[in-house]
Amino acid sequence: MRTIALLGATGSIGRQALEIIGAHPELELVAAASGSQPVEGLAPLTQVGGDLTELLDRAQPDIVLNAVVGFAGLPATLWALEAGVTLALANKESLVAAGELALAAQRRGGGLLLPVDSEHSAAFQCLEGREPEQVDSLVLTGSGGPFRGRTREELDDVTPDEALAHPTWNMGPKITVDSATLANKGLELIEAHFLFGLPYERIEVVLQPTSIVHSLVRFRDGAALAHLGYPDMRVPISYALTYPERAATPLPPLDLSSLALEFQAPDVDTFPMLALAREAGEKGGTYPAAYNAANEVAVAAFLADRLAFLEIAEVVADVLARVDGAPARDVEELVEVDARARALADERLPVA
Ligand code: NAD
Ligand code: MG
Repeated sequence: MRTIALLGATGSIGRQALEIIGAHPELELVAAASGSQPVEGLAPLTQVGGDLTELLDRAQPDIVLNAVVGFAGLPATLWALEAGVTLALANKESLVAAGELALAAQRRGGGLLLPVDSEHSAAFQCLEGREPEQVDSLVLTGSGGPFRGRTREELDDVTPDEALAHPTWNMGPKITVDSATLANKGLELIEAHFLFGLPYERIEVVLQPTSIVHSLVRFRDGAALAHLGYPDMRVPISYALTYPERAATPLPPLDLSSLALEFQAPDVDTFPMLALAREAGEKGGTYPAAYNAANEVAVAAFLADRLAFLEIAEVVADVLARVDGAPARDVEELVEVDARARALADERLPVA
């Protein structure tokens, strides 16, 4: 029996997690939380908004599935890592913003950190049981989003509805816009750096438009191991919740005769968010936190029709040029950095 606290239970990941938990009698949902939607009756302990670590203190789960969207997921990530409770992490923003602090908390807590993000779940599986010196590099794949192949002129007046029409994955609005700008791949690059301890020059991003190849690891002998599957988040959610058992899911076996497996390089000039993430990651300190905060503000403004699609990257570049990026010594300092970057991004938005 494993007890689970599901944070972000009403979202895209949260609802798919409920389906997985419901199908496995050995998985018991003891706590559920959301930002604002009702969650009563989903679990014995529930909470809407507020400090989610209060719910975790009461629930004392075996596994925290953090499927909150954005920096708001940070306290729960740190709670689980510090306590040595298995963290199934969908909330990439917390690891991007707090990378060093999160890894220090994990070293103290000694628990498992299992990625739920499909690319990182794939890489985790390809890397499991290998020695670091065998690994050459990691290749993160991405679909390229709904605007793959477009020029900057063709992106000038795209609407939120167009950005929300993702070709392969059905996800919440924030990550769907991030996929359209390639900020999602940028966040995932930084997430991979912290999860797998690889320097940025050994993490490559490649587009694979049908989202069948979820990532690859290259080894020193010239072999590359890839993880393939249909784009369905129930697979990495199930893997994290039932690790290391790899329980059955309702997915059909992969039909190879119907698959197109093409790869192409991302267009970093048209989609600057990927290059900006690499730069922020390489600079280190709190640059990734500032990148994330500015992106959250810009995406919310784009979704509210206050900012043009191409201006998302302009706001983020501007904020990154204005912060000092000094490392945060503790969570309080990190929260200040996040707030400061949000204020700088806000200043940069057109007046409502
Ligand atoms: P979503 O918008 O569908 O759901 C977000 C959930 O977080 C909701 O339940 C919402 O109530 C909750 N929430 C928001 N603010 C909160 C707050 N302040 N306190 C507590 N709860 C809050 O988002 P999603 O698509 O499910 O994504 C969730 C996370 O998983 C994101 O970090 C995303 O990047 C990551 N992720 C999602 C997918 C996917 O397929 N949806 C894939 C990989 C990674
Ligand atoms: Mg992903």
